[in-house]
Amino acid sequence: MGWLGLDDTDSLKGGCTTEVLFQLLEDLPDTVTFRNPRLVRLWPFAKQRTRGNAAVAVELITENETELLTHLDLWWEEHIVSLKGEVGTSDHSERTQYPADPGMIWSSELIVNEAFYKSAVSSHIELQDLPEVTRYWGGNGRIGATAAVLWPANQCTYEAIAWRDNEAEGRRQLDDEALTEVEDLKDTFLCRNPKLGTSLLAPRGNSPVLFGIRSWTKEGAQQALEILEQGKDTEPTKGSLVFETNQATGDHLKRPIEAVVRSKSILKKGHVVLETSEGTWIAFRQSGHIALLSQWVIKGDMLIGNGLRDEENVLHLELLKVKKSVSEQKRPLCIRCNKSMKSMGKNQGLRCKKCNLTSDRGWVEVKRIPPFKDWVQPPASSRRHLSKPLEEK
Ligand SMILES: [Zn+2]
Repeated sequence: MGWLGLDDTDSLKGGCTTEVLFQLLEDLPDTVTFRNPRLVRLWPFAKQRTRGNAAVAVELITENETELLTHLDLWWEEHIVSLKGEVGTSDHSERTQYPADPGMIWSSELIVNEAFYKSAVSSHIELQDLPEVTRYWGGNGRIGATAAVLWPANQCTYEAIAWRDNEAEGRRQLDDEALTEVEDLKDTFLCRNPKLGTSLLAPRGNSPVLFGIRSWTKEGAQQALEILEQGKDTEPTKGSLVFETNQATGDHLKRPIEAVVRSKSILKKGHVVLETSEGTWIAFRQSGHIALLSQWVIKGDMLIGNGLRDEENVLHLELLKVKKSVSEQKRPLCIRCNKSMKSMGKNQGLRCKKCNLTSDRGWVEVKRIPPFKDWVQPPASSRRHLSKPLEEK
């Protein structure tokens, strides 16, 4: 008995680490059974990350570990070694592409190492920092493979994944009625992009995955899988698995940070850079309400934020809330016209341009009410796999 971990087998041909694991499980000797497949998302800023930046692991049960390891040696040589060096496709085209460098590990027992897992979801890890395991194969992918095995799974969600037939290509066929039924199940989540009304269950682009359904419970994932796989117009699959996963757990985040805004710059595309008492924070336009709220804040506002820091130590905001907003100094309004009064020059008071009423009040304090009172986060479609939806907090 033991745990197998696998990562970084994506390739231009459209491979996916989940599918490689599925094939590996299909090919296991009859004397070996498996349980608890897991899909573990890792640090999103990892330079050599794979497309979805996910590693997989599974528990293998056998009376004969030596036989299993011989089988794994062979399987590695025959099916995985050839994937090395393939350049993966990416949904982030601005990112430098690294060739796949698959890695696999075997651990005869379940070692729980929370500290290692936490580092793997929130920071960079070097190959030489890996804890010792019973056996390993390959290169860089061993990092994710190890993290997937060592994940303590203190909290988890589930994802049911089905793969397309080997010959299938082009548009994915999913039964509409079954899709709606799956979305309406109480345990499934992130099924639909509420803004565009499009389904999030089928991946776009080159991938052997037909669909992936996220669920808060294992039963919910199983039920959804059956409904969609058996849908009248759903194309045939070559198989499916329900994975235990760290998606939507928020495991990658540390405690929220309180900071005072020192300055703000709004970049061309609507991204916002905030210089704060706790370093530089960035809100990308795609982060929706976070970007809007960041555009609204001014110097002196006190914020609570959370996110991951990149290599330059810039905090990429994933959660934001205004703790206290400073008031704004504004010209008073004309009591007759309700229009803002204008200064007549230094120390000469104010005048209403419309009715000529004058006033010697220079400024009035105006309380600023944030556009969002509570925490905000990016819309589902641009949220990280690891991010916990606010409604579940
Ligand atoms: Zn007036």
